Amino acid sequence: MATILVIDDSRLVAHVAKNILTKKGHEVLLASDGAEGLELAKSKMPDLILLDLIMPGDLDGYAVCEKVKAKGADTEDIPVIMLTSKAESADKVRGLEAGASDYVTKPFDEGELVARVNTHLRLKELYEKLQEKNRQLQELANRDGLTGLFNHRYFQQALAKDFQRAVRYHEPLSCVLLDIDFFKKFNDTYGHQIGDVVLSTLGGIIEGSLRETDMAARYGGEEFALVLYHTAEDAAYMVAERLRQRVESHEFKAESLNLKVTISVGVSTFPHKDIPDHKTLVECADKALYKAKEQGRNQVVRFQHGMEN
Ligand SMILES: [Mg+2]
Repeated sequence: MATILVIDDSRLVAHVAKNILTKKGHEVLLASDGAEGLELAKSKMPDLILLDLIMPGDLDGYAVCEKVKAKGADTEDIPVIMLTSKAESADKVRGLEAGASDYVTKPFDEGELVARVNTHLRLKELYEKLQEKNRQLQELANRDGLTGLFNHRYFQQALAKDFQRAVRYHEPLSCVLLDIDFFKKFNDTYGHQIGDVVLSTLGGIIEGSLRETDMAARYGGEEFALVLYHTAEDAAYMVAERLRQRVESHEFKAESLNLKVTISVGVSTFPHKDIPDHKTLVECADKALYKAKEQGRNQVVRFQHGMEN
């Protein structure tokens, strides 16, 4: 069952259409002029619109069609079928140009009306499925294949946006960069497959420690990055330290091995006088991470003015 909006100034035409479509199990809404029709289209979001072209008032069918199908309008994807009489035949082209998908000639042939309505409802459903598939593909394209976290490219895009938002609303924003200590050892000693298990297990631990507004990505080989929105330095440090402890106490199981893994972590926070943009935010987290490595690893270091790497 679908919801169909019939916009026609002729009560007779509207009610004939309603009877035919109601019998087929559809819910039918009626509007008797363009303005009312447009209102109903916006508020009820019907699955399909049957639209008379010639109507009195400021909005004729063409104008309604253009507004319904306007780029970016909520109603853009609702199919519109024009209702035309034989005499208006030349205007069908104009209606199609205004965004209508099809037309039905009045007086209706019942079978034809039902067939065209069903065709366009089916097309709309297919289109929606296709869009959902596209959304899923897009989502996959943003993910790292091994860990399921976001990838480097998406991280950069999201961080750039979050940074702008933080500047505009004067909100704190923290970046956490972390790196597995002596990761090369796992690959060299046990092989890359074991290294991959370590990476994906760590990905799972990170994912499981995120709060609602946090975002995590695999930043590089054994490097991960977190964006903590609305999070000032102390809170970011705590998130990072908790994660470090969780990793340290976790038993990484790979084949018959029980491995211990530690991470070094750098934290940077906006606002900070040294941090004018999102790129610098990451660079500063990287400097802090470098310091954590230098000071003996398995620790969290906050970025401070004057830190160099
Ligand atoms: Mg009319």
